[in-house]
Amino acid sequence: MSAETPSIVIKRRGLMLVLSSPSGAGKSTISRNLIETDPELKLSVSVTTRPRRGSEIDGAHYHFTSKREFELLRDNDALLEWAEVHGNFYATPREPVELAMSQGRDMLFDIDWQGAKQLKEKMRGDIVSIFILPPSMGELKARLKRRAEDQDAVIETRLKNARDEIEHWGEYDYVVINEDLNRAFAEVRAIVAAERLRRDRRPGLFDFVSKLLDEKTS
Ligand code: GDP
Ligand code: ADP
Ligand code: 5GP
Repeated sequence: MSAETPSIVIKRRGLMLVLSSPSGAGKSTISRNLIETDPELKLSVSVTTRPRRGSEIDGAHYHFTSKREFELLRDNDALLEWAEVHGNFYATPREPVELAMSQGRDMLFDIDWQGAKQLKEKMRGDIVSIFILPPSMGELKARLKRRAEDQDAVIETRLKNARDEIEHWGEYDYVVINEDLNRAFAEVRAIVAAERLRRDRRPGLFDFVSKLLDEKTS
Protein backbone atom coordinates (compact mmCIF):
# COMPACT_ATOMS: atom_id res chain seq x y z
CA MET A 1 0.00 0.00 0.00
CA SER A 2 1.40 3.44 -0.93
CA ALA A 3 1.88 6.14 1.68
CA GLU A 4 -0.97 8.09 0.04
CA THR A 5 -3.55 5.32 0.38
CA PRO A 6 -5.14 5.59 3.80
CA SER A 7 -5.86 2.31 5.57
CA ILE A 8 -8.90 3.84 7.26
CA VAL A 9 -11.60 5.15 4.96
CA ILE A 10 -14.65 6.64 6.64
CA LYS A 11 -17.74 6.99 4.52
CA ARG A 12 -19.11 10.51 4.26
CA ARG A 13 -21.89 12.40 2.53
CA GLY A 14 -21.15 14.08 -0.80
CA LEU A 15 -20.18 17.72 -0.92
CA MET A 16 -21.63 20.28 -3.32
CA LEU A 17 -18.90 22.85 -3.88
CA VAL A 18 -20.19 26.07 -5.44
CA LEU A 19 -17.79 28.63 -6.97
CA SER A 20 -19.07 32.04 -8.07
CA SER A 21 -17.35 35.24 -9.12
CA PRO A 22 -17.69 38.09 -11.54
CA SER A 23 -16.71 37.05 -15.05
CA GLY A 24 -12.93 37.03 -15.43
CA ALA A 25 -12.03 36.62 -11.73
CA GLY A 26 -10.69 33.14 -12.42
CA LYS A 27 -13.31 30.66 -11.30
CA SER A 28 -13.11 28.54 -14.45
CA THR A 29 -9.32 28.37 -14.12
CA ILE A 30 -9.59 27.36 -10.46
CA SER A 31 -12.38 24.87 -11.26
CA ARG A 32 -10.29 23.27 -14.00
CA ASN A 33 -7.28 22.93 -11.69
CA LEU A 34 -9.46 21.38 -9.01
CA ILE A 35 -11.00 18.83 -11.37
CA GLU A 36 -7.57 17.90 -12.74
CA THR A 37 -5.98 17.39 -9.33
CA ASP A 38 -8.85 15.95 -7.30
CA PRO A 39 -10.22 12.70 -8.71
CA GLU A 40 -13.06 12.71 -6.15
CA LEU A 41 -14.51 15.93 -7.54
CA LYS A 42 -16.73 15.88 -10.63
CA LEU A 43 -17.79 19.01 -12.50
CA SER A 44 -21.48 19.69 -13.01
CA VAL A 45 -21.62 20.49 -16.72
CA SER A 46 -24.16 23.27 -17.20
CA VAL A 47 -26.56 23.75 -20.05
CA THR A 48 -26.26 27.15 -21.76
CA THR A 49 -27.74 29.09 -24.67
CA ARG A 50 -24.52 31.16 -24.94
CA PRO A 51 -22.53 30.64 -28.16
CA ARG A 52 -19.57 28.27 -27.77
CA ARG A 53 -16.15 29.92 -27.43
CA GLY A 54 -13.35 28.72 -29.69
CA SER A 55 -11.62 26.90 -26.84
CA GLU A 56 -14.72 25.13 -25.51
CA ILE A 57 -15.86 21.56 -26.13
CA ASP A 58 -19.56 20.75 -26.19
CA GLY A 59 -20.36 18.29 -23.39
CA ALA A 60 -17.16 19.06 -21.46
CA HIS A 61 -17.35 22.79 -20.68
CA TYR A 62 -21.07 23.17 -21.30
CA HIS A 63 -23.93 21.48 -23.07
CA PHE A 64 -24.62 24.13 -25.70
CA THR A 65 -28.30 24.28 -26.60
CA SER A 66 -30.81 26.42 -28.45
CA LYS A 67 -33.30 28.54 -26.54
CA ARG A 68 -36.06 26.14 -27.62
CA GLU A 69 -34.21 23.07 -26.26
CA PHE A 70 -33.48 24.95 -23.05
CA GLU A 71 -37.15 25.74 -22.55
CA LEU A 72 -38.06 22.09 -23.12
CA LEU A 73 -35.58 20.96 -20.45
CA ARG A 74 -36.88 23.59 -18.03
CA ASP A 75 -40.53 22.70 -18.64
CA ASN A 76 -39.77 18.99 -18.13
CA ASP A 77 -38.23 19.66 -14.73
CA ALA A 78 -34.83 18.45 -15.96
CA LEU A 79 -33.06 21.48 -14.45
CA LEU A 80 -32.12 21.80 -10.79
CA GLU A 81 -31.77 25.57 -11.14
CA TRP A 82 -31.58 28.07 -13.96
CA ALA A 83 -30.79 31.73 -14.42
CA GLU A 84 -30.32 34.42 -17.03
CA VAL A 85 -26.72 35.70 -16.92
CA HIS A 86 -25.22 38.33 -19.27
CA GLY A 87 -28.24 37.92 -21.56
CA ASN A 88 -27.98 34.12 -21.93
CA PHE A 89 -29.62 31.23 -20.09
CA TYR A 90 -27.60 28.88 -17.89
CA ALA A 91 -28.77 25.88 -15.90
CA THR A 92 -27.67 22.88 -13.88
CA PRO A 93 -28.98 19.54 -15.18
CA ARG A 94 -30.76 17.71 -12.37
CA GLU A 95 -29.97 14.04 -13.05
CA PRO A 96 -26.15 13.98 -12.71
CA VAL A 97 -26.38 15.89 -9.43
CA GLU A 98 -28.98 13.60 -7.91
CA LEU A 99 -26.99 10.55 -9.00
CA ALA A 100 -23.74 11.90 -7.52
CA MET A 101 -25.42 12.83 -4.25
CA SER A 102 -27.12 9.42 -3.92
CA GLN A 103 -23.68 7.80 -4.32
CA GLY A 104 -22.02 10.15 -1.82
CA ARG A 105 -19.79 11.73 -4.48
CA ASP A 106 -18.58 15.34 -4.50
CA MET A 107 -19.60 17.81 -7.19
CA LEU A 108 -18.27 21.17 -8.29
CA PHE A 109 -20.59 23.90 -9.59
CA ASP A 110 -19.31 26.95 -11.50
CA ILE A 111 -22.52 28.98 -11.30
CA ASP A 112 -23.63 32.55 -10.65
CA TRP A 113 -25.16 33.94 -7.44
CA GLN A 114 -28.74 33.24 -8.59
CA GLY A 115 -27.88 29.58 -9.12
CA ALA A 116 -26.01 29.38 -5.80
CA LYS A 117 -29.08 30.76 -4.01
CA GLN A 118 -31.42 28.25 -5.64
CA LEU A 119 -29.12 25.30 -4.84
CA LYS A 120 -28.82 26.43 -1.23
CA GLU A 121 -32.59 26.52 -0.89
CA LYS A 122 -32.91 23.01 -2.35
CA MET A 123 -29.88 21.22 -0.92
CA ARG A 124 -29.09 23.12 2.26
CA GLY A 125 -26.60 21.08 4.35
CA ASP A 126 -24.54 19.70 1.53
CA ILE A 127 -23.51 23.02 -0.03
CA VAL A 128 -20.19 24.74 0.53
CA SER A 129 -19.96 28.03 -1.32
CA ILE A 130 -16.90 30.09 -2.24
CA PHE A 131 -16.90 33.54 -3.78
CA ILE A 132 -13.83 34.42 -5.84
CA LEU A 133 -12.91 38.13 -5.91
CA PRO A 134 -10.47 39.80 -8.29
CA PRO A 135 -7.70 41.87 -6.66
CA SER A 136 -9.05 45.03 -8.39
CA MET A 137 -11.54 46.09 -11.05
CA GLY A 138 -8.63 47.15 -13.27
CA GLU A 139 -7.15 43.65 -13.11
CA LEU A 140 -10.59 42.13 -13.80
CA LYS A 141 -10.86 44.14 -17.01
CA ALA A 142 -7.29 43.24 -17.98
CA ARG A 143 -8.03 39.51 -17.50
CA LEU A 144 -11.20 39.64 -19.57
CA LYS A 145 -9.24 41.30 -22.37
CA ARG A 146 -6.26 38.96 -22.02
CA ARG A 147 -8.52 35.92 -22.15
CA ALA A 148 -9.46 37.15 -25.64
CA GLU A 149 -12.48 34.87 -25.90
CA ASP A 150 -15.26 37.46 -25.99
CA GLN A 151 -15.98 40.42 -28.25
CA ASP A 152 -15.49 43.94 -26.85
CA ALA A 153 -19.24 44.51 -26.39
CA VAL A 154 -19.54 41.22 -24.45
CA ILE A 155 -16.58 42.21 -22.24
CA GLU A 156 -18.29 45.56 -21.53
CA THR A 157 -21.52 43.79 -20.48
CA ARG A 158 -19.59 41.41 -18.23
CA LEU A 159 -17.70 44.28 -16.59
CA LYS A 160 -20.95 46.16 -16.00
CA ASN A 161 -22.51 43.03 -14.45
CA ALA A 162 -19.42 42.39 -12.30
CA ARG A 163 -20.54 44.92 -9.69
CA ASP A 164 -23.96 43.27 -9.33
CA GLU A 165 -22.36 39.84 -8.90
CA ILE A 166 -19.81 41.14 -6.36
CA GLU A 167 -22.63 42.61 -4.25
CA HIS A 168 -23.60 39.02 -3.36
CA TRP A 169 -20.24 38.13 -1.82
CA GLY A 170 -21.77 38.16 1.68
CA GLU A 171 -24.07 35.22 0.86
CA TYR A 172 -21.13 32.80 0.53
CA ASP A 173 -19.43 30.64 3.20
CA TYR A 174 -15.90 31.56 2.08
CA VAL A 175 -14.23 34.35 0.11
CA VAL A 176 -10.97 33.90 -1.80
CA ILE A 177 -9.14 36.80 -3.46
CA ASN A 178 -7.55 35.56 -6.66
CA GLU A 179 -4.45 37.74 -6.92
CA ASP A 180 -1.83 35.02 -7.15
CA LEU A 181 -3.41 31.97 -8.82
CA ASN A 182 -1.33 29.37 -6.93
CA ARG A 183 -2.23 30.91 -3.62
CA ALA A 184 -5.94 31.19 -4.46
CA PHE A 185 -5.94 27.58 -5.62
CA ALA A 186 -4.22 26.43 -2.42
CA GLU A 187 -6.83 28.29 -0.38
CA VAL A 188 -9.70 26.65 -2.24
CA ARG A 189 -8.09 23.22 -1.72
CA ALA A 190 -7.73 23.92 1.99
CA ILE A 191 -11.43 24.73 2.21
CA VAL A 192 -12.34 21.48 0.44
CA ALA A 193 -10.00 19.46 2.69
CA ALA A 194 -11.46 20.97 5.86
CA GLU A 195 -15.07 20.59 4.73
CA ARG A 196 -14.47 16.90 3.96
CA LEU A 197 -13.36 16.38 7.55
CA ARG A 198 -16.48 17.91 9.11
CA ARG A 199 -17.93 15.61 11.71
CA ASP A 200 -21.53 16.13 10.58
CA ARG A 201 -20.67 15.01 7.06
CA ARG A 202 -19.16 11.72 8.24
CA PRO A 203 -21.80 9.42 9.70
CA GLY A 204 -19.28 6.55 9.42
CA LEU A 205 -17.40 8.04 12.37
CA PHE A 206 -19.91 6.55 14.81
CA ASP A 207 -18.90 3.00 13.83
CA PHE A 208 -15.22 3.89 13.80
CA VAL A 209 -15.29 5.41 17.29
CA SER A 210 -17.35 2.60 18.75
CA LYS A 211 -14.90 0.00 17.35
CA LEU A 212 -12.04 2.11 18.69
CA LEU A 213 -13.54 2.07 22.15
CA ASP A 214 -14.20 -1.68 21.96
CA GLU A 215 -10.52 -2.39 21.37
CA LYS A 216 -8.76 -3.89 24.35
CA THR A 217 -5.71 -2.00 25.53
CA SER A 218 -4.65 -4.35 28.28
P1 GDP B 1 -17.22 33.16 -17.27
O1 GDP B 1 -17.55 32.80 -15.89
O2 GDP B 1 -16.82 34.56 -17.48
O3 GDP B 1 -16.25 32.20 -17.92
O4 GDP B 1 -18.59 33.08 -18.10
P2 GDP B 1 -19.63 31.89 -18.41
O5 GDP B 1 -20.30 32.25 -19.70
O6 GDP B 1 -18.97 30.57 -18.30
O7 GDP B 1 -20.74 32.00 -17.28
C1 GDP B 1 -21.72 33.07 -17.24
C2 GDP B 1 -22.44 33.13 -15.89
O8 GDP B 1 -23.34 32.07 -15.77
C3 GDP B 1 -21.54 33.03 -14.66
O9 GDP B 1 -21.93 33.97 -13.71
C4 GDP B 1 -21.72 31.62 -14.18
O10 GDP B 1 -21.44 31.52 -12.81
C5 GDP B 1 -23.16 31.41 -14.53
N1 GDP B 1 -23.44 30.02 -14.66
C6 GDP B 1 -22.73 29.05 -15.26
N2 GDP B 1 -23.32 27.87 -15.13
C7 GDP B 1 -24.44 28.09 -14.44
C8 GDP B 1 -25.50 27.24 -13.98
O11 GDP B 1 -25.53 26.03 -14.18
N3 GDP B 1 -26.51 27.82 -13.31
C9 GDP B 1 -26.53 29.13 -13.08
N4 GDP B 1 -27.55 29.60 -12.39
N5 GDP B 1 -25.57 29.95 -13.48
C10 GDP B 1 -24.52 29.46 -14.16
P1 ADP C 1 -13.95 33.24 -15.02
O1 ADP C 1 -14.22 31.79 -15.22
O2 ADP C 1 -14.15 33.67 -13.61
O3 ADP C 1 -14.67 34.11 -16.00
P2 ADP C 1 -11.26 32.62 -16.03
O4 ADP C 1 -10.87 31.45 -15.19
O5 ADP C 1 -11.64 32.38 -17.46
O6 ADP C 1 -12.40 33.49 -15.28
O7 ADP C 1 -10.04 33.66 -15.94
C1 ADP C 1 -10.03 34.84 -16.71
C2 ADP C 1 -8.61 35.06 -17.29
O8 ADP C 1 -7.72 35.44 -16.23
C3 ADP C 1 -8.03 33.82 -17.93
O9 ADP C 1 -7.32 34.21 -19.08
C4 ADP C 1 -7.09 33.27 -16.86
O10 ADP C 1 -6.02 32.56 -17.43
C5 ADP C 1 -6.64 34.52 -16.13
N1 ADP C 1 -6.34 34.37 -14.70
C6 ADP C 1 -7.01 33.64 -13.78
N2 ADP C 1 -6.46 33.78 -12.54
C7 ADP C 1 -5.41 34.64 -12.68
C8 ADP C 1 -4.42 35.19 -11.78
N3 ADP C 1 -4.41 34.92 -10.48
N4 ADP C 1 -3.52 36.05 -12.29
C9 ADP C 1 -3.52 36.37 -13.60
N5 ADP C 1 -4.40 35.89 -14.50
C10 ADP C 1 -5.34 35.03 -14.07
P1 5GP D 1 -19.38 32.10 -19.18
O1 5GP D 1 -20.35 32.57 -20.20
O2 5GP D 1 -18.26 33.04 -19.01
O3 5GP D 1 -18.97 30.65 -19.38
O4 5GP D 1 -20.17 32.10 -17.78
C1 5GP D 1 -20.76 33.25 -17.29
C2 5GP D 1 -21.32 32.99 -15.96
O5 5GP D 1 -22.36 32.00 -15.98
C3 5GP D 1 -20.35 32.52 -14.95
O6 5GP D 1 -20.46 33.35 -13.81
C4 5GP D 1 -20.77 31.12 -14.67
O7 5GP D 1 -20.43 30.74 -13.36
C5 5GP D 1 -22.26 31.17 -14.89
N1 5GP D 1 -22.83 29.89 -15.12
C6 5GP D 1 -22.34 28.93 -15.87
N2 5GP D 1 -23.15 27.84 -15.84
C7 5GP D 1 -24.18 28.16 -15.02
C8 5GP D 1 -25.31 27.43 -14.57
O8 5GP D 1 -25.55 26.29 -14.92
N3 5GP D 1 -26.13 28.07 -13.74
C9 5GP D 1 -25.90 29.32 -13.33
N4 5GP D 1 -26.76 29.85 -12.49
N5 5GP D 1 -24.85 30.03 -13.71
C10 5GP D 1 -23.98 29.46 -14.56
